[in-house]
Amino acid sequence: MGTVTIAAIVSGCGSEPAPQAKPPAKADAAAAKKSKAEKAAAAAKVKANELGQVPVLMYHRIIPNPATTDDRTPAQFRADLDRLARDGYVPVTAAEFVTGRMDIPAGRHPVVITFDDSSPSQLTLDETGQPKPDTAVAILREAAARHPGFRPVATFYVTRDMFGKSVKEEQAQVLLWLKDNGFDVGNHTRDHLNLRGMAKAGVQEQIGSIAKEVGTLAGIKPVTIALPYGNQPSTKEWAARGRLGDASYHHKGVFLAGYTPSASPFSRSFDPLGIPRIKAMDKKGDCAQFCSTAWLDWLKSNPDMRYTSDGDVATVAYPKFKNPFLSTTYKTYALPY
Ligand SMILES: [Zn+2]
Repeated sequence: MGTVTIAAIVSGCGSEPAPQAKPPAKADAAAAKKSKAEKAAAAAKVKANELGQVPVLMYHRIIPNPATTDDRTPAQFRADLDRLARDGYVPVTAAEFVTGRMDIPAGRHPVVITFDDSSPSQLTLDETGQPKPDTAVAILREAAARHPGFRPVATFYVTRDMFGKSVKEEQAQVLLWLKDNGFDVGNHTRDHLNLRGMAKAGVQEQIGSIAKEVGTLAGIKPVTIALPYGNQPSTKEWAARGRLGDASYHHKGVFLAGYTPSASPFSRSFDPLGIPRIKAMDKKGDCAQFCSTAWLDWLKSNPDMRYTSDGDVATVAYPKFKNPFLSTTYKTYALPY
């Protein structure tokens, strides 16, 4: 049926202009033709391990004078991104991560960069609609320009603070800018209250109302949520699915606040209702072991534990002996070697 339809469209379109979509790169077309054995050999060559761990980094404000250890300066954020690029990481969004659509080159490692609380230091637009210098988005785009292949993408977890904008039209401008430029918008609840111990109706009100807001303002339906303070409601599922009036929310991933890299979404160890994140911070004090610098050092010195891509989104490649860890959901995509 599908083939017939396509044939009919193709034969009826002789005079149509060429499709707008880019033709697949030569490498992609060649990869499609390769036999499974050749694909496995190629995966082995780059030591692909798509059951390995992925760092999900948690940022808050990017400001010149940090008030707490949650904040980073523009210079620190720049250095963080340069380090990620040097270590072979390529950013993917939280939505791409939880749905297993991490389209990065062979031999590279995914990193998820997340920002909580929708502060103006993350994105403020000037009068021409460009991100202001030293905002997180501007710094991320500069890093992508410096490091070829480094994708300027991140996930922004929004509350009613809406990047410091109180006028609806201005809130819409910022959200639409993110959406139009390949950034991902997630739910961080309306009022940033602690959901632990809250009744179901309250949880649904907190999550559902901000979901409705970003939907109305920019047509965005968040794929993931980050919980305020990393605290889960008494029934974990309430954060993932719920209703508010005639609207509903359905998240494919629920992110927490600490303190380890995440399991691969293809691994049996992956729990979509409680995905750990790592605070972005140097190896100091409380962060000597469990923040980003420490974990990136650890992943670098334990490369067999880290997620390494085979460059093909249609397969899940990994060393054969890790087979028991493959999630049953992804069995048909398995490429053990
Ligand atoms: Zn927060």
